[in-house]
Amino acid sequence: MNMEAFVLGCGGVMPLPGRHLTSVLLRREGELLLFDCGEGTQVSLRELNLRWKKISAIFISHTHADHVTGLPGMLMLSAQVDRSEPLYIIGPPRIKEFVDWARDVLEMYINYEIVVLEIENPRVGAVVYTGDGFTVRSVPLSHTRTCVGYVLEEDDRPGVFHPERAIEAGVPRGPLWARLQRGEAVTLDDGTVVQPETVVGPRRPGRKFSFVTDSLYRKDLATEVADSDLLICEGMFHNEFRETAHEKKHMTAADAAELAAAAGGVRQMGLIHYSPRYADWQLKLLLKDAKPIFPNTFLTRDRQAIELPYREE
Ligand SMILES: [Zn+2]
Ligand SMILES: [Zn+2]
Repeated sequence: MNMEAFVLGCGGVMPLPGRHLTSVLLRREGELLLFDCGEGTQVSLRELNLRWKKISAIFISHTHADHVTGLPGMLMLSAQVDRSEPLYIIGPPRIKEFVDWARDVLEMYINYEIVVLEIENPRVGAVVYTGDGFTVRSVPLSHTRTCVGYVLEEDDRPGVFHPERAIEAGVPRGPLWARLQRGEAVTLDDGTVVQPETVVGPRRPGRKFSFVTDSLYRKDLATEVADSDLLICEGMFHNEFRETAHEKKHMTAADAAELAAAAGGVRQMGLIHYSPRYADWQLKLLLKDAKPIFPNTFLTRDRQAIELPYREE
């Protein structure tokens, strides 16, 4: 099953030419999930030729303008589409007010159902969305207003089936193999019971995607994002502006790297939500701070696609 992340915007605060505001789209076997929706999101979506209609849920971290101002445009763009499934918009308190206000003032006519779910207690992590084969948890962040990160985790996959072991155990090829693969014990004609563990390897973990912006560094985040196949994390400033970052309740690139390193098992970390003070060529300052702490750090760029393959077995 394919899983890819697309960076629709990597900027913080204000959009720049060639750098839209924070938004990441995750595509999992045709289904699209959007994380934050800054200004410009729909432009990147169009440039990447991704179908809006396939978005089943939009997860909003917080109601600062650089994370939500793309929403009204996105909803208007798709006001009349051939869509039977509802669109979920999930976020901290006031997200419903924002969506309702936009729909009302802009007099949007929308011909499908929009379900806005406000996270009841954003200070505590909780499952906020369950899809087909995965769940999304919100995790509490520390920012100047209520803010959450999101962690998507796929369900475990069955273990690898070993045909040679099945033959060795005397199980004939056919429906019994399928039952063993499903984790059921089978009884052979001679009365022998074959347990699935005999022929199937241990269950394999699914993939994990984490999205963390905007926040101060929090120790408890490490547990939440541990073993992420991809961690997208705010790294707004380089070390020289450490104090400014922390005053404004943001992470530096080094903070993001500390988090990825402390978490353990993170395969790669993409920095996002850059301060507009950095021109593209200056973003290497962020990488320079982060890499010594977490070598598998990269700079996200608008319209970048990142594959999330299964881990080697
Ligand atoms: Zn922001
Ligand atoms: Zn913010």
